[in-house]
Amino acid sequence: MLGIRCKCGGKLKRGVTEVEFFGIDFGVKQADICTKCGSEYLSQELLEEIEKEVVGRGLFGLERKGHVAKSGNSLVVRIPKEIAKSLKIERDTPIIIYPSEPKKLVIEVET
Ligand SMILES: [Zn+2]
Repeated sequence: MLGIRCKCGGKLKRGVTEVEFFGIDFGVKQADICTKCGSEYLSQELLEEIEKEVVGRGLFGLERKGHVAKSGNSLVVRIPKEIAKSLKIERDTPIIIYPSEPKKLVIEVET
């Protein structure tokens, strides 16, 4: 993969990165990392492994777009039916909600 450039024009350097997709932790894996913008390129084999795992867990294609609504003084995020079903979330299911990154909100189902 050496000699291939990032779409930003930067050079790629072999390195390692923490791989996580759909909340599944795949551990630290090799990746080609752009020295200019930090984009990470994973190998085809790794991408296939990730896809297999995601499909196997029935999580494939569950990403949905939505909007924040308002109810009284609270903001409301609707959980799409497919995601609720996949995670076995029902009315009154206890959850923990917290921001994990500047633009990421995590909802954990309490067990
Ligand atoms: Zn780049």
